[in-house]
Amino acid sequence: MNKIKSLALFLVLILGFACEQDTNTKTERSEATKTTKAIKVLEKPTVSFTFDDGITKDLAGYKFEDWNQMILNALDEEDLHAVFFVSGFNKMDRKGKYLLSEWDKQEHKIANHTFSHPNFNDKNNTIKVFEQELLQTDSIINQYEQYVKYFRFPYLKEGKTKEKIEGIRSILEKNNYRNGHVTIDASDWYVNSRLINQMTYRKKVDTLAFEAFYLDHIIERATFYDSISYELNGRHIKHTLLLHHNLTSALFLKSLIKRFKLEGWEIIDAIEAYKDPIYTRVPTVEPAGESLIWSLAKESGKFENRLRYPAEDSRYEKDEMDRLGL
Ligand SMILES: [Zn+2]
Repeated sequence: MNKIKSLALFLVLILGFACEQDTNTKTERSEATKTTKAIKVLEKPTVSFTFDDGITKDLAGYKFEDWNQMILNALDEEDLHAVFFVSGFNKMDRKGKYLLSEWDKQEHKIANHTFSHPNFNDKNNTIKVFEQELLQTDSIINQYEQYVKYFRFPYLKEGKTKEKIEGIRSILEKNNYRNGHVTIDASDWYVNSRLINQMTYRKKVDTLAFEAFYLDHIIERATFYDSISYELNGRHIKHTLLLHHNLTSALFLKSLIKRFKLEGWEIIDAIEAYKDPIYTRVPTVEPAGESLIWSLAKESGKFENRLRYPAEDSRYEKDEMDRLGL
């Protein structure tokens, strides 16, 4: 009996100890979760999506309506809303109107990206040309419900001289337009052009390898701009990522959203991101443009060893893509 009693007592003690241990661990765990959560709320980098241009052509065997719908579906599945910065020249015909009304219906903001996509660092594209380009596209998009007065500079080039930069800015202001800044710039357009090239001219294309390169590239650039921004501002700002209305967005946006989440990013609507006070900053560097974070970093003079000009370009990605056979 004694033996059994002490065995029972022993078991009770062991179980009790185990339970206590378990409770302790649970408490510790929940405390740890609370702390991590608190840090996450404060520390989480945030991104939103903006798309430029607006192509109305079939791409590498994908019908225009289909690849466009793939982008809209990827956003819709996550209940995300973008700002779509469109160039006006191809938005007056049936396909152009279809494109704008599809994005408008899905409640994506429709914004201005000039009429003919000129580079304002070029001296031939004067302040006067700027005003014509702005107003021409404004007259095409202003009938849409989701129309907003945000302007995105083609190639993110805002002019080389003080006189022109200030002239252009005063025209934006006169017309109640805001600069539709990008904070995270990348070369999705270059990956897109090489993918389309291979799909057009080769029998076999390793789409998965393109996707892997694309995802790594965008995440690497996002992390770069966020780290510079964090050093500059002492906080995670609400970023606007520049993507293009193209085949890489159609094929890879779903995975990109997943990857951002996996890397700990929060994703929000682009119009929400523009409420961040960072977008009221007006950098005074010449030439003006690139990503807003690039310009502010340049202006600070503290990041010379980490900034390149142009900030993003095909030349930085070409060798690696060649090496990978992409
Ligand atoms: Zn563009």
